[in-house]
Amino acid sequence: ALVIHRKMKKSGRWVKAMEILKEFEEKCGTPILKLRQVADAMIVEMHAGLASEGGSKLKMLISYVDNLPTGDEEGLFYALDLGGTNFRVLRVQLGGRNRGIVNQQFEEVSIPPSRMTGTSDALFDYVAATLARFVAQEGSVFKPSPGRQRELGFTFSFPVVQSSIASGTLLKWTKGFSIDDTVGQDVVAELAKAMERRGLDMRIAALVNDTVGTLAGGRYNDNNVVASVILGTGSNAAYVECAHAIPKWHGLLPKSGQMVINMEWGNFRSSHLPLTEYDHALDAESLNPGEQIYEKVISGMYLGEIVRRVLCRMAEEAAFFGGTVPPKLKEPFVLGTPVMSSMHRDTSPDLKISNTSLKMRKAIVELCNIVATRGARLSAAGVLAILKKMGRDTVKEGEKQKTAIAMDGGLYEHYTEYCNCFKDTLNELLGEEVSKTIMIEHSNDGSGIGAALLAASQSQYLELYEP
Ligand code: BGC
Ligand code: MG
Repeated sequence: ALVIHRKMKKSGRWVKAMEILKEFEEKCGTPILKLRQVADAMIVEMHAGLASEGGSKLKMLISYVDNLPTGDEEGLFYALDLGGTNFRVLRVQLGGRNRGIVNQQFEEVSIPPSRMTGTSDALFDYVAATLARFVAQEGSVFKPSPGRQRELGFTFSFPVVQSSIASGTLLKWTKGFSIDDTVGQDVVAELAKAMERRGLDMRIAALVNDTVGTLAGGRYNDNNVVASVILGTGSNAAYVECAHAIPKWHGLLPKSGQMVINMEWGNFRSSHLPLTEYDHALDAESLNPGEQIYEKVISGMYLGEIVRRVLCRMAEEAAFFGGTVPPKLKEPFVLGTPVMSSMHRDTSPDLKISNTSLKMRKAIVELCNIVATRGARLSAAGVLAILKKMGRDTVKEGEKQKTAIAMDGGLYEHYTEYCNCFKDTLNELLGEEVSKTIMIEHSNDGSGIGAALLAASQSQYLELYEP
């Protein structure tokens, strides 16, 4: 009788756990109709953000990039890419017309967590020191022009209101960075001061968001690139807008008639987003409550954390892991998205929780799938919004226009299930005929090279290159 009683208790707990999972799945639903509503809501916000400063949750930031790389860029340029957990420094030797990138070198270092939440000087001193070390190794392969100041493209992947191509104030931090004294400051000035303290003489020629860098890098390789999307630790998109469609732009209309817009789509929110109690709790306990809501359901920093929260509930209310809740599971952010992605693939139980049966692992795979699918499908809806805004979501009679989107970010690159679901959903939204005209291209580290290319186009020695 005792054995039967135990078995009944156990199956009762299993039923309860499956109920929790089922309910979560229902709340995460993203039928096509909903995705279209999300895209349309995003388009409304795009218009509002372009109309006036502060007109929308979507900042639609003016990048001051009104010309994208042409292939004529020439010379030695540096770039610095600061934005996620790693930051990169690189140098590229641009060969000019028809020669492309002659040589490039980079170094990637991880930012000590203490520098992500300390003082502005501590962060920028660290960045400048790394850059200085890198510059010192320039060696013989790269030929800086004698007597010329080195020039740098600065990729800074946070929301910045720019006042020119090489200045801009930080609106707020995202993605686990939180340094109060940088907010409201010109980040180019912050970097320049740190470089000066370090005795590093270099001109910061361009300040760009990673999406803008990726767009520039993508365009260098493919003329059809008109938009870019980052699906990584954070998420965001940029695209080429008609200058006259930006009412809040009061400057001269650029000759090209175009302006790259950094959407800062991570801050999008809408009643159409399928948010659950777990998302609300995650948001409330995050470093930036109430902000970056779209980012918190689609990007790499948060997906694993959502899975952890659901698992926690299953453990607490349905004894999913047996009588006790694994203490580790209670720690926020212990379950990173890379771990989630390997659990999703169902290799062995990376979660390292003993006694996970096949049945349990299947439930965990299911849970990962729900979270990844919702994120991937919602990000595809964002891309649909951009294509619609650009009028590239339909095929016009007799027109052979191709549209390419440059993609980058760890989630896109490494989380295969997410990436495939993103692409499938976009095809589903666009339909077969239109899908054939849209190319989704991985731009490997385009953001750094893109920044170097934009620095080249802003070089103080530009006239010297001109034939
Ligand atoms: C930032 C964006 C950035 C994106 C991807 C977001 O958290 O706000 O500026 O482009 O992450 O790195
Ligand atoms: Mg990056």
